[in-house]
This record gives sequence, C-alpha cells and structure tokens, in this order.
Amino acid sequence: MQRTALVVGVATQRSIAWSSALALLRGEFDHVIVTYQNERFQKSVERMVSDENDHLKTICKPANTPKLISCLPCNVIEKEADLHSLFDERIPSLLHERNQDICDSYIPKLDAMIHSIAFAPTSSMKSTNELPLLHTTHEDFDIAHSISAHSLLNLSKHALPLLTCQGDDEDVSRSPSITALTYLGSSRTVRNYNVMGPAKASLEACMRGLALEISPPPHCIRVNAVSAGPINSLAARGIRDFNEMRKEARENSFLKRSVTGEEVGNMVEFVAGSRASGVTGQVLFCDGGYSSFGG
Ligand code: NAD
Repeated sequence: MQRTALVVGVATQRSIAWSSALALLRGEFDHVIVTYQNERFQKSVERMVSDENDHLKTICKPANTPKLISCLPCNVIEKEADLHSLFDERIPSLLHERNQDICDSYIPKLDAMIHSIAFAPTSSMKSTNELPLLHTTHEDFDIAHSISAHSLLNLSKHALPLLTCQGDDEDVSRSPSITALTYLGSSRTVRNYNVMGPAKASLEACMRGLALEISPPPHCIRVNAVSAGPINSLAARGIRDFNEMRKEARENSFLKRSVTGEEVGNMVEFVAGSRASGVTGQVLFCDGGYSSFGG
C-alpha cells in the first residue's frame, strides 16, 4: 500500500519542512503533500515541487509509478472552515487522484504528519529591550503560542480521521505518526530566544499530551518531536543575533559543526516512519550533541 505524509510549513529550500519532505521521499513514503502559508510562498514552493517531481521521474525504475510531491496552502490561523475544507476535501481529493488506480475501494489515509511551523512577532523577537521576555506583551505571547504550539493540537484534531488506523494494516510497525519540530530553548535558557522558549515548552507538552491521548488504540498514532540544532532558515533570521547562537552551538557541540537541514530531515524521516514504531511521546535531538554538553 502507498505511504503518504503531510508536511506543514515549507517556505524556502532551507525550510526544515522541505528537507523533511525530501527525506521522506528518499525513504519509505511514496507521496508527500507539503503546505505553504500563503500567496507569498505559493509560486516558489510550486516551482520547488515541480522541479522535485521532474527529478523523481528521472530516478524511477521503468516499471514503477514515480513517487510524487504535491502542495496546498495552509494558514493555521485561518478560519476553522478553511482547515475543514483542507482536511475534509482538498487533501482527500489529492489522495484519491494519486490512489484511484491502485484499488477501487480506496479510503483516503495519511501515514504521517510533520508540524514544522513557528512564529512570534518581531516586536518580541528583535526587541532592543534589555529584558525582552519580561516585557512580552499579552498579544505577542498569544500569537507565538497560538501559531507555534496550539496549531499542533488543531492540525492533529483535523488530521485525526485521515491518520487513524483503518484496520487494513495489521502490521503495528506501520502505525501512523505525528512529528513536530522543536528547539532546546524549550527547556534551557537560550539568549534571544525570548517568547519562543515558552512557546516551544508548550509545543513539547502538547506533543506528550497528544501521545497520552492518541497513541493507545483505537488511534495508535505515535507523537514525537525532533529538536534541531540551529539551521539558517527564514524563521531563524527572525531571531536576534542568530549567527552568534549558531556559532555558540557549533563550538560547544560534540561534533564541532552545525547540523545540516538534510541531517534534521533524515531524523524526521526516521521518527515518522516504521523503523521508529516503538517510539512515542519523546523529544529526539539532532544537534551534534550540544544539548548534552556540560562545559
Ligand atoms: P521556516 O521559516 O522555513 O519555516 C517556518 C514555517 O512556519 C514557514 O513555512 C512559515 O510560513 C510557517 N508559518 C508561520 N506562521 C504560519 C501560519 N500562521 N500558518 C501556517 N504556517 C505558518 O523555518 P524553519 O527553521 O524551517 O522552521 C521550521 C520549524 O523548525 C519551526 O517549528 C522552528 O521553530 C523549528 N526549528 C528551527 C530551528 C532552526 O534553527 N531553524 C531549530 C530548531 C527548531
């Protein structure tokens, strides 16, 4: 049976979501649906997807159907009706298109969802105040937590019917999964991470709470987080003195280098796929060992 993943949060080629999508396609997944936030990213993401489909055709064996990557818009602070239409209509219709030749009675199904989105307003992340967290406004706090943490709950709620095991696969190693991207600032102080620290703590707590609720039968959905070392992405550029943060992590990691997007994507692919069938409710680090460094 075809394996399909939904990856939420592609903005550029440097997005961890994009590295994750490519790793999922190199691995056991046949179809990956990526999402972009809005029109600002639509054209470039559509081009990336089209180029990747050309590449997938060239590496496909003659008798096989090439793997496929598709894209759809998804803004997590849009109206509930738009998220309903994404999960109840647009994704199932893409899945039908891809799978109708395989079996007449195909029931639309996702095997994995990757949450790779975060946002906090510039006023809280690039504040020149000496005590930026102390001066976080209620509004900035709400926005950061809503987009970066609550969205994991809301997307999981909408995706639940597509992710829940449909009884057609007795093999527990093929149970579906949800994987979120997080950062060490959730549990340790990291200068300039400001309100994103509490937001990532909330995201990780939501991840564990979801594992408690939906990992047991009947859902059998594994829920985990991958904690990545600093990667030079669009979101990272919103962090004050990000290059300093990256240098600090590089010098104090056991590997003495920064991790790459490809390495983080590979970790996401592992956690999301069947080789991690016994793993749920965990934060797994891909940071060159920085989180274990004691000085
Ligand atoms: P990125 O900018 O490529 O990705 C962030 C994504 O969030 C973008 O696609 C953006 O459009 C999306 N987004 C923001 N608001 C949204 C909304 N309202 N609705 C839908 N999407 C929205 O940056 P990235 O570094 O790839 O970030 C991906 C994830 O990885 C984030 O959770 C981030 O915190 C986490 N992470 C990043 C690093 C790093 O150093 N870059 C390290 C650890 C964890």
